[in-house]
Amino acid sequence: MSNIIAIVGRPNVGKSTLFNRLTESRKAIVDDFSGVTRDRHYGKAEWTDKEFTVIDTGGYVANSEDLFEAAIREQVVIAIEEASVIIFMVDVTTGITDLDDDIANLLRKSKKPVFVVVNKVDNTALETESSVFYSFGLGEIYTISSMTGSGTGDLLDEVVKHF
Ligand code: GDP
Ligand code: MG
Repeated sequence: MSNIIAIVGRPNVGKSTLFNRLTESRKAIVDDFSGVTRDRHYGKAEWTDKEFTVIDTGGYVANSEDLFEAAIREQVVIAIEEASVIIFMVDVTTGITDLDDDIANLLRKSKKPVFVVVNKVDNTALETESSVFYSFGLGEIYTISSMTGSGTGDLLDEVVKHF
């Protein structure tokens, strides 16, 4: 497979909401294997004339806090290996958490393109608050609302340049 976007980030930032939006009306092509793959959903998507696969990470079977964080890290490591582009999703309504910083540290070592995507920017007031996420040092940030779809077109325009 080529042209793969992996969406990583801690729970509840909106990864699955974006995945569902991008893969709208298309069936997930792979699902429900064992171990970490059980926590990954693959879907087909397209934007302009480009077709690609989107991976949603983190259904997270583990429930202890430590296992939970380890599972998220594992998903990030796999994404770095497997994906051609990584979407690192964060949540403007919570700001930067310790787990966000951990993930950012892993991604900074990756040679793959990383898009910092600030989700839940549902209105222009939240746009201003998004600038804190530049402090990851991962370059440009992309503000979106997975719920309304706002900003997702501009994001995809940039992402598909890597395909
Ligand atoms: P995941 O755990 O990262 O996959 O997050 P989900 O996609 O399951 O979303 C977690 C929660 O955030 C759900 O209640 C979503 O409805 C909500 N959510 C997702 N995207 C947005 C958004 O753009 N704006 C707002 N306000 N809520 C959102
Ligand atoms: Mg999810």
